[in-house]
Amino acid sequence: MSTAPRFLRRFLEELPGDPDTTPRPRQVEGALWSRVLPTPVRAPRLLAWSRSLARELGLDEEAMRAPRTAEMLAGNALWEGMDPYAANYGGHQFGHWAGQLGDGRAIVLGEWRSPDGAVHELQLKGAGRTAYSRRGDGRAVLRSSIREFLCSEAMHALGVPTTRALSLVETGEQVLRDFFYDGNAAFEPGAIVCRVAPSFLRFGNFELPAARGDHALLRKLADFALRHWFAELGASGREAYEALLHEVATRTARLMAQWQAVGFVHGVMNTDNLSLLGLTIDYGPYGWIDDFDLDWTPNTTDAEQHRYAFGNQPAIGLWNLARLARAFLPLLDGDEEAAAAPLQRYREVYAAEASTRHGAKLGLRFDAARGDEELVQQLLELLSAAPTDMTLFFRALSALVRQVAPPAELPSRVRACFYGAAAAAHEELLLAWLQRWWKRVRSEAGSPDQLAAAMDRTNPKYVLRNWLAQEAIDAAHADDLSKLERLLRVMEHPFDEQPEHEELAQKRPEWARHKAGCSMLSCSS
Ligand code: AMP
Ligand code: MG
Repeated sequence: MSTAPRFLRRFLEELPGDPDTTPRPRQVEGALWSRVLPTPVRAPRLLAWSRSLARELGLDEEAMRAPRTAEMLAGNALWEGMDPYAANYGGHQFGHWAGQLGDGRAIVLGEWRSPDGAVHELQLKGAGRTAYSRRGDGRAVLRSSIREFLCSEAMHALGVPTTRALSLVETGEQVLRDFFYDGNAAFEPGAIVCRVAPSFLRFGNFELPAARGDHALLRKLADFALRHWFAELGASGREAYEALLHEVATRTARLMAQWQAVGFVHGVMNTDNLSLLGLTIDYGPYGWIDDFDLDWTPNTTDAEQHRYAFGNQPAIGLWNLARLARAFLPLLDGDEEAAAAPLQRYREVYAAEASTRHGAKLGLRFDAARGDEELVQQLLELLSAAPTDMTLFFRALSALVRQVAPPAELPSRVRACFYGAAAAAHEELLLAWLQRWWKRVRSEAGSPDQLAAAMDRTNPKYVLRNWLAQEAIDAAHADDLSKLERLLRVMEHPFDEQPEHEELAQKRPEWARHKAGCSMLSCSS
């Protein structure tokens, strides 16, 4: 094993910090972080961990099962070299500038160097109060922690860039939460997730110094980001900053195209929840689209506005990017044109990426000259015209590719994707579409089996449907972790058939339609 120090302190050593180390709520000016220790918890218990991530970090089964690991993952003990801090950032929430936000319940333990040389920040979410907790308790509840833990790993397995989740620890303490924001607060079990990412930098980290007119601090942060994650773009200076914006535009656009292609709805796309590295970050009231309702949002806080609804995500990604570009203006000598250029880049990348991904879902190498744009567009309209399960529908297509002729009637496995019965006229339109598509896909190079196999590597069979996560949560509350473990295992291989887990690849059952946690979620977590 390497003898190099396992923990780096780049964020602390290279960027200005706050001299106050207490968790007293405050405005922190001129600094990008505040040191803070996790608040120990009463009876930590390691409930689950990601084997694949532990392996990447160089932590084997024995290391993960060691009591000192559970203590560390609960915030009760530090490993040598850890120097915990909370990051300072701001953000636009629901379209409005919210000022300083910061890590109110997330504490970075340190930057861990894996045996392969990669550096990962280890961050505890729910580990107690920080300078940025405002009136919050710095804690997280078990239900939300299970959701973040499972979805981080599920998204990674789907190939969607995301922060990871190493562990889920129950704290043995109760947390008071008002789930419905109706004055009926109740105690719930508390938990801590250890999140892992190369960096947790958000758009909001840049917005805060920009909003305060602290251009020197803004420049330091931009140079820091360039140095560690975008070195190929340059070290500093206007050209490098422009290139950085372009790169963030590209990654954000690609991420949005991936979310749309798998049916993931983030739910709280505030600028403090958008990653500079283009990762999915901050799993709160997210949800998976069942019936392809473009207007659906899982977030009760957004129930009126639908700002973060499924179909709006690409536009919101652009809106958020515009906020980041504005924050960068002082670094671009106030050149508005230079700040607008990445927005155009975003539009182009999103359009191209969405076409490629939707084409791939249909087994096609997208070709506008062959009418693929219309083919995709018509399908998306059909899917939302009569509620149709998105995941099951796309997964059903590969079997049709293998057929020797275009379908003569609506295949039963396609009809099975409808929520409720569809009108006869709709079925006819869908059948006509399937016939057009069948001819188009069979004109692609490759045998039907090859085409079908490629589609099955693009269209997941298993996604972390809201009701599935909720069942695992209900069981965990009754001290049964088997559903959680099963979901984790199945979601690690979302493209595999796994016939023994067929019941996890089903339409949302009727009971889940309006149940809290399945159809709607609050930010109260
Ligand atoms: P989110 O909507 O989860 O991205 O959180 C928005 C802001 O509220 C962030 O600054 C969080 O750190 C903070 N926050 C959320 N929940 C808590 C909590 N229980 N205690 C302290 N701060 C919190
Ligand atoms: Mg957040």
